[in-house]
Amino acid sequence: MPKPKIADRIKNLPPYLFATIDQLKQKALAKGADLINLGIGDPDLPTPDAIIRRLQRAAENPKHHQYPSYEGMLTFREAAADWYRRRFGVRLDPKNEVLTLIGSKEGIGHLPLAFINPDDVALIPDPGYPVYHAATLFAGGRSHFMPLKKENHFLPEFDRIPNAVLKKARLLFINYPNNPTSATAGKEFFKEVIRFARRHKLIVCHDNAYSEVYFDGERPMSFMEMDGAREVGIEFHSLSKTFNMTGWRIGFAVGNAQILAALGKVKSNLDSGVFQAVQEAGIEALNLKDSVTDEIRKVYQERRDTLISGLMGLGLSVEPPKATFYVWVGVPKGYTAMKFTTHLLDRAGIVTTPGSGFGKAGQGYIRMALTVPNERLIEAVGRMERLLS
Ligand SMILES: *Cc1c(COP(=O)(O)O)cnc(C)c1O
Repeated sequence: MPKPKIADRIKNLPPYLFATIDQLKQKALAKGADLINLGIGDPDLPTPDAIIRRLQRAAENPKHHQYPSYEGMLTFREAAADWYRRRFGVRLDPKNEVLTLIGSKEGIGHLPLAFINPDDVALIPDPGYPVYHAATLFAGGRSHFMPLKKENHFLPEFDRIPNAVLKKARLLFINYPNNPTSATAGKEFFKEVIRFARRHKLIVCHDNAYSEVYFDGERPMSFMEMDGAREVGIEFHSLSKTFNMTGWRIGFAVGNAQILAALGKVKSNLDSGVFQAVQEAGIEALNLKDSVTDEIRKVYQERRDTLISGLMGLGLSVEPPKATFYVWVGVPKGYTAMKFTTHLLDRAGIVTTPGSGFGKAGQGYIRMALTVPNERLIEAVGRMERLLS
């Protein structure tokens, strides 16, 4: 059989740097190396017990064995709305201002199909979560990358975007607390976002996957807390990072009813919703006492403090993150992001992610994830000390 002819939308995807790292990783493992994996943003802690038990019970109920409703069970959407009210003081109509997703990645991935015509532009943070760009390409659109720079606290500079680009722009993706830089944003920035979106008729998609992974009791806000947010956009939310549920595939989007209806239309033509037993478990998660997530945050905070003080002791350029489980580290002089990543992997058995894998502006940084036990972070710092001294 001849080689299958791959469509341009796949061929045009950016080179997958992470695949190179994976090869190096496999090689090291084959040689018997004891790798410390700080490369992936996937919680190592288990899902809280109550959520698992709720799934077990729900899975036994035959009424959950059939196709779920496209927009999600009303009871799950009510639990999400209620959680937003308790956590952010935001009131949402569960009937049309909440949409259940098969993880927020699914919703982000499908959104451009609802709003991007060929040649339309999406404004995308660089460095950023790779799905924004891939989804835009798949919809036939073009990405305009907004560099996130340290001197701007990793916030985009809207006044740098050329007018010709703005004329074609339809979507604006933002993400705070931010993956990969761990930067946070507040009212001033979100106010500017709303003003900018109104002026240029943009749909704002705020990705709030890390709102519950915060430190020192400083809780990140929801974009939906802002006056006018609901007129211009939606917010993606995920149970994955909050409740250690990345494998379960459940999230939701909230906000503008018309935007959500259009996203729902795409979805109803492509997928058939989330297994209802998982939605039941999601209800359990959203109703858990704060003490459960407080415990999870305490674990990350201890790890953050270990890694940050270690890296600072080595003289590396790094700031303690206020949220997310990532540490964004400037690479030492003489290294590119990829070179430093390779060096750490080959010589110290530490897996990290090169910032350049998240976009051009991520050059000069590596991302370390706090998703291994504290002892392993101590061990990682020790290995780096021996390597860099
Ligand atoms: C992890 C992550 C998501 C996706 O989470 P789901 O598991 O699909 O809900 C979305 N955005 C960012 C920035 C993430 O890091």
